[in-house]
Amino acid sequence: MNTQKNEIIAGIDLGGTKILTVIAGTYCNLLAQADMLTHSEQGYEGVISRIIESIDAALGHVNEQRASLKLLAICTPGPEIDTKKGIVHFSNNLQWRDVYLKEILEEKLKIPVVVENDANAAALGECLFGAGRSLSNMVYVTVSTGIGCGIIMDRKIYHGVSDSAGELGHTIIYPDGPRCSCGNNGCLEAVASGAAIAREAKRLAHDGQADVILAAANNELEDIDAGIVAAAAMSGDNTAMEIFDNAGKALGIGLANLVNLINPSVVVLGGGVMKSKDLIWTSMKREFERRVIKRSGQHVKIVSAELGSMSGAMGMIAIANTELKGDICG
Ligand SMILES: [Zn+2]
Repeated sequence: MNTQKNEIIAGIDLGGTKILTVIAGTYCNLLAQADMLTHSEQGYEGVISRIIESIDAALGHVNEQRASLKLLAICTPGPEIDTKKGIVHFSNNLQWRDVYLKEILEEKLKIPVVVENDANAAALGECLFGAGRSLSNMVYVTVSTGIGCGIIMDRKIYHGVSDSAGELGHTIIYPDGPRCSCGNNGCLEAVASGAAIAREAKRLAHDGQADVILAAANNELEDIDAGIVAAAAMSGDNTAMEIFDNAGKALGIGLANLVNLINPSVVVLGGGVMKSKDLIWTSMKREFERRVIKRSGQHVKIVSAELGSMSGAMGMIAIANTELKGDICG
């Protein structure tokens, strides 16, 4: 099907903190973007109003109206999303339960809406436009407050039977390890995420074993976050360095499990914690190389994400385009 020159599509990355909206032409050519705070504490109706405001703001940058918009593709944090029906059954970042996102947005905007999991969207974005360009099979892992993962096979997202594939963050690294938000013990997310790094630092500070980190948080235990621990590690604090070292080790085990299972050509690492990758990389690589199956290890590259905060929204542009034309960005 041919598309008209003035047809435009929107891709949105709806995060717990920020709504990033991108407007593109139907060849995935980027035209405009806008971001806005999510304010999830206002409830889903407030967030949906802000989504529409952010679309209008982005359209305003290119002097376009909502009437020109042919399709909207939006990704949201999980873990429980029905992508076919566009229902967010559960999202702890947004504090949503059973929000019929597709139905509500289609009613308000009068255009088709596609919903996807944010890690899957970021994986597709990196595969098509970022660190995975020209690859058909790759895995994207985001190490942030939590740990997410998207699996791309033959340039398509692998969803699994109930949209739950790629929950690398909830694969178990240490069965007797700390409790995870999912109810299990020792999940990768419970030992290597930004939240896990902060929790370990707080535990040590509480026991009087992390004075430098505590001082960096102005002696406010609850203010310790992964960024503060990273800054302390960069300044040479041994306790902070060891916390990152242990997170890197757990991540290396998780990545070896992932590569042994999927045999991808590339693993792309993104997310806020990877901004401090120098603190994690050595122990991660050492542990990965110790545990990966030799043949898989020889054929995989572990690289950093290239699109930063744009990966999810760009993935959604590709999905919107595929939905509209049956072809990725062609
Ligand atoms: Zn878990």
